[in-house]
Amino acid sequence: MQHLATSGALHRDESCNELEDCAACLFCGSAEAEAGVEGVEDVFFRADPGSFDLRRCRDCGSLWLAQRPFGARLVKAYSSYHTHTEHNDPVVAPHPLREWLRGAYYRSLFKGIAGPLDRLAGAVIAAVGYDTSGLDKELREVPPPPAKVLDYGCGGGRFFRQLRGLPYQLYGVEYDPHLLSALADEGVEVEDAATIRDDRWDGEFDYITLAHVLEHVPDPDALLRRLFRWLKPGAALYIELPNASACGLAIFGRHWRGLEAPRHFALPTRAALANALERAGFILERQVIDPAARSLLWQESLAAAPEAEHAALRRNMASVPDENEENAELLTVIARRPLR
Ligand SMILES: [Zn+2]
Repeated sequence: MQHLATSGALHRDESCNELEDCAACLFCGSAEAEAGVEGVEDVFFRADPGSFDLRRCRDCGSLWLAQRPFGARLVKAYSSYHTHTEHNDPVVAPHPLREWLRGAYYRSLFKGIAGPLDRLAGAVIAAVGYDTSGLDKELREVPPPPAKVLDYGCGGGRFFRQLRGLPYQLYGVEYDPHLLSALADEGVEVEDAATIRDDRWDGEFDYITLAHVLEHVPDPDALLRRLFRWLKPGAALYIELPNASACGLAIFGRHWRGLEAPRHFALPTRAALANALERAGFILERQVIDPAARSLLWQESLAAAPEAEHAALRRNMASVPDENEENAELLTVIARRPLR
Protein backbone atom coordinates (compact mmCIF):
# COMPACT_ATOMS: atom_id res chain seq x y z
CA MET A 1 0.00 0.00 0.00
CA GLN A 2 0.95 3.60 -0.44
CA HIS A 3 0.03 6.62 1.61
CA LEU A 4 -3.15 8.62 1.40
CA ALA A 5 -3.07 12.37 0.92
CA THR A 6 -1.06 14.00 3.68
CA SER A 7 -2.91 15.86 6.42
CA GLY A 8 -2.91 19.61 6.79
CA ALA A 9 -0.96 19.49 10.05
CA LEU A 10 2.21 18.60 8.19
CA HIS A 11 4.77 20.58 6.33
CA ARG A 12 7.32 19.37 3.86
CA ASP A 13 11.02 19.91 4.06
CA GLU A 14 12.12 19.68 0.45
CA SER A 15 15.78 19.87 1.44
CA CYS A 16 15.81 16.51 3.18
CA ASN A 17 15.27 14.10 0.36
CA GLU A 18 11.53 13.54 0.34
CA LEU A 19 11.07 13.37 4.09
CA GLU A 20 8.42 15.43 5.81
CA ASP A 21 8.28 16.41 9.48
CA CYS A 22 5.39 15.18 11.52
CA ALA A 23 4.96 17.31 14.62
CA ALA A 24 1.78 15.90 16.16
CA CYS A 25 0.50 12.52 17.33
CA LEU A 26 -1.48 10.81 14.58
CA PHE A 27 -3.85 9.26 17.10
CA CYS A 28 -4.73 12.22 19.35
CA GLY A 29 -3.27 15.34 17.71
CA SER A 30 -1.11 16.26 20.69
CA ALA A 31 2.30 17.81 19.98
CA GLU A 32 3.50 16.96 23.50
CA ALA A 33 6.11 14.33 22.77
CA GLU A 34 9.21 12.74 24.18
CA ALA A 35 11.89 10.65 22.54
CA GLY A 36 10.42 7.29 21.64
CA VAL A 37 12.67 4.97 19.65
CA GLU A 38 15.71 6.21 17.77
CA GLY A 39 17.75 4.98 14.84
CA VAL A 40 15.23 2.54 13.36
CA GLU A 41 16.35 1.14 10.02
CA ASP A 42 14.44 -0.80 7.37
CA VAL A 43 16.16 -4.06 8.30
CA PHE A 44 13.26 -6.30 7.31
CA PHE A 45 12.78 -5.19 3.69
CA ARG A 46 15.82 -3.01 2.98
CA ALA A 47 13.78 -0.77 0.71
CA ASP A 48 14.79 2.52 2.36
CA PRO A 49 18.37 3.47 3.31
CA GLY A 50 17.40 5.91 6.09
CA SER A 51 17.53 5.86 9.86
CA PHE A 52 14.29 6.96 11.52
CA ASP A 53 13.26 8.29 14.92
CA LEU A 54 9.88 7.78 16.52
CA ARG A 55 8.32 10.16 19.03
CA ARG A 56 6.16 9.01 21.89
CA CYS A 57 3.02 11.00 22.68
CA ARG A 58 2.90 12.27 26.27
CA ASP A 59 -0.90 12.28 26.16
CA CYS A 60 -1.86 8.91 24.69
CA GLY A 61 1.40 6.93 24.54
CA SER A 62 1.29 6.38 20.78
CA LEU A 63 4.44 6.37 18.67
CA TRP A 64 4.91 8.17 15.38
CA LEU A 65 7.66 8.78 12.86
CA ALA A 66 9.22 12.19 13.44
CA GLN A 67 10.10 12.32 9.76
CA ARG A 68 8.46 10.16 7.17
CA PRO A 69 8.89 9.60 3.45
CA PHE A 70 6.61 10.95 0.77
CA GLY A 71 6.56 11.00 -3.04
CA ALA A 72 8.98 8.75 -4.89
CA ARG A 73 10.77 7.80 -1.68
CA LEU A 74 7.54 6.44 -0.22
CA VAL A 75 6.80 4.46 -3.38
CA LYS A 76 10.30 3.00 -3.19
CA ALA A 77 9.77 2.10 0.49
CA TYR A 78 6.99 -0.25 -0.67
CA SER A 79 8.87 -1.67 -3.64
CA SER A 80 9.85 -4.92 -1.91
CA TYR A 81 7.08 -5.04 0.65
CA HIS A 82 5.55 -8.46 1.34
CA THR A 83 1.96 -7.61 0.40
CA HIS A 84 3.39 -6.65 -2.97
CA THR A 85 5.23 -9.86 -3.60
CA GLU A 86 2.94 -12.50 -2.08
CA HIS A 87 0.55 -12.37 -5.00
CA ASN A 88 2.88 -14.33 -7.25
CA ASP A 89 4.70 -16.15 -4.51
CA PRO A 90 4.81 -19.86 -5.40
CA VAL A 91 4.76 -20.75 -1.68
CA VAL A 92 1.20 -19.40 -1.53
CA ALA A 93 0.01 -21.67 -4.36
CA PRO A 94 -1.84 -24.36 -2.40
CA HIS A 95 -1.93 -28.09 -2.99
CA PRO A 96 -5.47 -28.94 -4.24
CA LEU A 97 -6.13 -31.43 -1.40
CA ARG A 98 -4.84 -29.00 1.20
CA GLU A 99 -6.98 -26.27 -0.36
CA TRP A 100 -10.05 -28.52 -0.23
CA LEU A 101 -9.40 -29.51 3.38
CA ARG A 102 -9.03 -25.88 4.41
CA GLY A 103 -12.30 -25.00 2.68
CA ALA A 104 -14.04 -28.03 4.22
CA TYR A 105 -12.78 -27.05 7.68
CA TYR A 106 -14.05 -23.49 7.26
CA ARG A 107 -17.41 -24.67 5.94
CA SER A 108 -17.67 -27.06 8.89
CA LEU A 109 -17.54 -24.04 11.21
CA PHE A 110 -20.70 -22.54 9.76
CA LYS A 111 -24.03 -24.30 10.16
CA GLY A 112 -26.16 -24.39 7.05
CA ILE A 113 -23.37 -24.39 4.47
CA ALA A 114 -21.41 -27.49 5.52
CA GLY A 115 -22.08 -30.60 3.43
CA PRO A 116 -21.65 -34.14 4.83
CA LEU A 117 -18.02 -34.30 3.62
CA ASP A 118 -17.23 -30.93 5.21
CA ARG A 119 -18.68 -32.09 8.54
CA LEU A 120 -16.68 -35.31 8.29
CA ALA A 121 -13.46 -33.36 7.58
CA GLY A 122 -14.18 -31.05 10.54
CA ALA A 123 -14.80 -34.04 12.82
CA VAL A 124 -11.58 -35.77 11.72
CA ILE A 125 -9.53 -32.58 12.21
CA ALA A 126 -10.96 -32.27 15.74
CA ALA A 127 -10.49 -35.98 16.50
CA VAL A 128 -6.80 -36.02 15.59
CA GLY A 129 -6.22 -32.88 17.65
CA TYR A 130 -4.90 -30.83 14.71
CA ASP A 131 -4.02 -27.31 15.83
CA THR A 132 -6.43 -25.10 13.88
CA SER A 133 -5.43 -21.81 15.55
CA GLY A 134 -3.52 -20.67 12.44
CA LEU A 135 -6.50 -21.40 10.20
CA ASP A 136 -8.90 -19.77 12.63
CA LYS A 137 -6.74 -16.65 12.78
CA GLU A 138 -6.85 -16.29 8.99
CA LEU A 139 -10.65 -15.94 9.18
CA ARG A 140 -10.26 -12.66 11.10
CA GLU A 141 -13.36 -13.35 13.24
CA VAL A 142 -15.55 -13.00 10.15
CA PRO A 143 -19.30 -13.50 10.83
CA PRO A 144 -21.02 -16.53 9.29
CA PRO A 145 -21.93 -16.30 5.60
CA PRO A 146 -23.78 -15.03 3.72
CA ALA A 147 -22.31 -11.56 4.29
CA LYS A 148 -20.92 -8.66 2.33
CA VAL A 149 -17.29 -8.30 3.38
CA LEU A 150 -14.72 -5.63 2.56
CA ASP A 151 -10.98 -6.04 3.06
CA TYR A 152 -9.53 -2.52 3.14
CA GLY A 153 -5.86 -2.56 2.11
CA CYS A 154 -6.23 -6.06 0.76
CA GLY A 155 -2.67 -6.33 -0.61
CA GLY A 156 -2.20 -9.39 -2.78
CA GLY A 157 -5.59 -10.85 -1.80
CA ARG A 158 -4.55 -13.26 0.95
CA PHE A 159 -7.83 -12.86 2.84
CA PHE A 160 -9.89 -13.43 -0.32
CA ARG A 161 -8.09 -16.69 -0.94
CA GLN A 162 -8.90 -17.86 2.58
CA LEU A 163 -12.61 -17.18 2.06
CA ARG A 164 -12.74 -18.67 -1.42
CA GLY A 165 -15.44 -21.34 -1.59
CA LEU A 166 -17.51 -19.72 1.16
CA PRO A 167 -20.67 -17.83 0.18
CA TYR A 168 -19.41 -14.30 0.91
CA GLN A 169 -19.67 -11.27 -1.34
CA LEU A 170 -16.08 -10.04 -1.28
CA TYR A 171 -14.82 -6.53 -1.99
CA GLY A 172 -11.41 -4.96 -1.67
CA VAL A 173 -9.75 -1.58 -1.56
CA GLU A 174 -6.05 -1.42 -2.34
CA TYR A 175 -3.37 1.21 -2.77
CA ASP A 176 -1.00 -0.51 -5.18
CA PRO A 177 -1.93 -0.24 -8.89
CA HIS A 178 -0.09 -3.46 -9.80
CA LEU A 179 -2.06 -5.45 -7.25
CA LEU A 180 -5.31 -3.83 -8.38
CA SER A 181 -4.99 -5.18 -11.88
CA ALA A 182 -3.81 -8.62 -10.68
CA LEU A 183 -6.82 -8.98 -8.40
CA ALA A 184 -9.19 -7.85 -11.12
CA ASP A 185 -7.77 -10.67 -13.26
CA GLU A 186 -8.77 -13.08 -10.47
CA GLY A 187 -12.31 -11.76 -10.58
CA VAL A 188 -12.21 -9.88 -7.26
CA GLU A 189 -13.92 -6.51 -7.17
CA VAL A 190 -11.20 -4.19 -5.90
CA GLU A 191 -11.20 -0.41 -5.87
CA ASP A 192 -8.31 2.04 -5.85
CA ALA A 193 -7.68 3.64 -2.45
CA ALA A 194 -6.10 6.64 -4.16
CA THR A 195 -9.32 7.65 -5.89
CA ILE A 196 -12.14 6.09 -3.90
CA ARG A 197 -14.48 8.55 -2.22
CA ASP A 198 -16.00 8.53 1.24
CA ASP A 199 -19.47 8.29 -0.31
CA ARG A 200 -18.61 5.20 -2.42
CA TRP A 201 -20.65 3.04 -0.05
CA ASP A 202 -23.18 3.92 2.62
CA GLY A 203 -24.14 1.37 5.25
CA GLU A 204 -23.49 -1.56 2.90
CA PHE A 205 -21.05 -3.94 4.56
CA ASP A 206 -21.69 -6.64 7.13
CA TYR A 207 -17.99 -6.76 8.01
CA ILE A 208 -14.85 -4.80 7.18
CA THR A 209 -11.31 -5.94 7.91
CA LEU A 210 -8.39 -3.57 8.33
CA ALA A 211 -5.41 -5.82 8.92
CA HIS A 212 -2.04 -4.10 9.22
CA VAL A 213 -3.24 -0.98 7.42
CA LEU A 214 -4.05 1.70 10.01
CA GLU A 215 -0.37 2.07 10.97
CA HIS A 216 0.47 2.95 7.36
CA VAL A 217 -1.87 5.90 6.86
CA PRO A 218 -1.23 9.56 7.75
CA ASP A 219 -4.75 10.16 9.07
CA PRO A 220 -6.11 7.17 11.02
CA ASP A 221 -9.20 9.12 12.19
CA ALA A 222 -10.28 9.88 8.62
CA LEU A 223 -9.98 6.22 7.64
CA LEU A 224 -11.97 5.04 10.68
CA ARG A 225 -14.73 7.56 9.92
CA ARG A 226 -14.87 6.34 6.33
CA LEU A 227 -15.17 2.68 7.35
CA PHE A 228 -17.81 3.53 9.97
CA ARG A 229 -19.88 5.08 7.21
CA TRP A 230 -19.49 2.04 4.94
CA LEU A 231 -20.68 -0.46 7.59
CA LYS A 232 -24.30 -1.36 8.10
CA PRO A 233 -25.64 -0.19 11.48
CA GLY A 234 -24.85 -3.01 13.91
CA ALA A 235 -22.02 -4.39 11.73
CA ALA A 236 -18.41 -4.76 12.85
CA LEU A 237 -14.88 -3.71 11.94
CA TYR A 238 -11.84 -5.94 12.52
CA ILE A 239 -8.55 -4.12 13.12
CA GLU A 240 -5.10 -5.52 13.67
CA LEU A 241 -1.84 -3.60 14.01
CA PRO A 242 1.30 -3.55 16.20
CA ASN A 243 0.93 -2.17 19.73
CA ALA A 244 2.99 0.82 20.90
CA SER A 245 3.03 -0.75 24.39
CA ALA A 246 4.10 -4.21 23.27
CA CYS A 247 6.47 -6.15 25.51
CA GLY A 248 8.55 -6.86 22.42
CA LEU A 249 9.26 -3.15 21.96
CA ALA A 250 10.49 -2.88 25.55
CA ILE A 251 12.85 -5.79 24.93
CA PHE A 252 14.10 -5.21 21.40
CA GLY A 253 13.84 -1.43 21.04
CA ARG A 254 14.73 -0.30 17.53
CA HIS A 255 15.00 -3.91 16.37
CA TRP A 256 11.39 -4.74 17.22
CA ARG A 257 9.57 -6.23 14.24
CA GLY A 258 6.46 -4.11 14.78
CA LEU A 259 8.20 -0.78 14.13
CA GLU A 260 9.00 -1.35 10.48
CA ALA A 261 10.12 2.17 9.68
CA PRO A 262 9.51 3.99 7.46
CA ARG A 263 6.28 2.29 6.33
CA HIS A 264 4.62 2.35 9.74
CA PHE A 265 3.80 6.01 10.31
CA ALA A 266 2.29 5.54 13.77
CA LEU A 267 1.42 2.86 16.32
CA PRO A 268 -1.25 3.37 18.99
CA THR A 269 -1.52 2.03 22.50
CA ARG A 270 -4.68 0.12 23.33
CA ALA A 271 -6.18 3.23 24.96
CA ALA A 272 -5.29 5.44 21.98
CA LEU A 273 -6.91 3.00 19.56
CA ALA A 274 -10.00 2.77 21.78
CA ASN A 275 -10.26 6.58 21.82
CA ALA A 276 -9.85 6.81 18.04
CA LEU A 277 -12.58 4.22 17.53
CA GLU A 278 -14.88 6.06 19.91
CA ARG A 279 -14.29 9.36 18.11
CA ALA A 280 -15.32 7.69 14.84
CA GLY A 281 -18.54 6.44 16.47
CA PHE A 282 -17.57 2.82 17.15
CA ILE A 283 -18.03 0.73 20.26
CA LEU A 284 -14.93 -1.31 21.03
CA GLU A 285 -16.50 -4.70 21.54
CA ARG A 286 -13.61 -7.03 22.30
CA GLN A 287 -9.91 -7.68 21.88
CA VAL A 288 -8.38 -10.92 20.70
CA ILE A 289 -4.85 -11.99 21.66
CA ASP A 290 -3.11 -14.17 19.11
CA PRO A 291 -0.97 -16.60 21.12
CA ALA A 292 1.36 -17.11 18.13
CA ALA A 293 2.17 -13.44 17.53
CA ARG A 294 4.65 -13.01 20.36
CA SER A 295 6.98 -15.83 19.33
CA LEU A 296 6.77 -14.88 15.65
CA LEU A 297 7.59 -11.21 16.21
CA TRP A 298 10.28 -11.94 18.78
CA GLN A 299 11.98 -14.46 16.53
CA GLU A 300 12.27 -11.90 13.74
CA SER A 301 13.26 -9.12 16.16
CA LEU A 302 16.03 -11.25 17.63
CA ALA A 303 17.30 -12.11 14.15
CA ALA A 304 17.47 -8.37 13.36
CA ALA A 305 19.53 -7.54 16.47
CA PRO A 306 23.34 -7.78 16.51
CA GLU A 307 24.71 -11.18 17.56
CA ALA A 308 26.53 -9.61 20.52
CA GLU A 309 23.22 -8.54 22.09
CA HIS A 310 21.50 -11.92 21.78
CA ALA A 311 22.43 -13.34 25.18
CA ALA A 312 21.09 -10.27 27.02
CA LEU A 313 17.98 -10.17 24.83
CA ARG A 314 17.24 -13.83 25.51
CA ARG A 315 17.48 -13.17 29.26
CA ASN A 316 15.00 -10.30 28.91
CA MET A 317 12.70 -12.45 26.79
CA ALA A 318 12.57 -15.00 29.60
CA SER A 319 11.62 -12.52 32.30
CA VAL A 320 8.60 -10.67 30.89
CA PRO A 321 5.00 -10.79 32.12
CA ASP A 322 2.37 -12.87 30.34
CA GLU A 323 0.74 -11.27 27.36
CA ASN A 324 -2.38 -9.23 28.15
CA GLU A 325 -4.61 -6.65 26.45
CA GLU A 326 -2.23 -3.79 27.28
CA ASN A 327 1.13 -5.34 26.39
CA ALA A 328 0.16 -7.70 23.54
CA GLU A 329 2.41 -7.58 20.49
CA LEU A 330 -0.55 -6.86 18.24
CA LEU A 331 -3.74 -4.97 18.93
CA THR A 332 -6.47 -7.11 17.40
CA VAL A 333 -9.91 -5.68 18.08
CA ILE A 334 -13.50 -5.96 16.94
CA ALA A 335 -15.38 -2.65 16.97
CA ARG A 336 -19.06 -2.26 16.18
CA ARG A 337 -21.08 0.49 14.55
CA PRO A 338 -24.02 0.94 16.93
CA LEU A 339 -27.48 0.09 15.61
CA ARG A 340 -28.37 3.77 15.94
ZN1 LIG B 1 -1.32 10.95 21.23
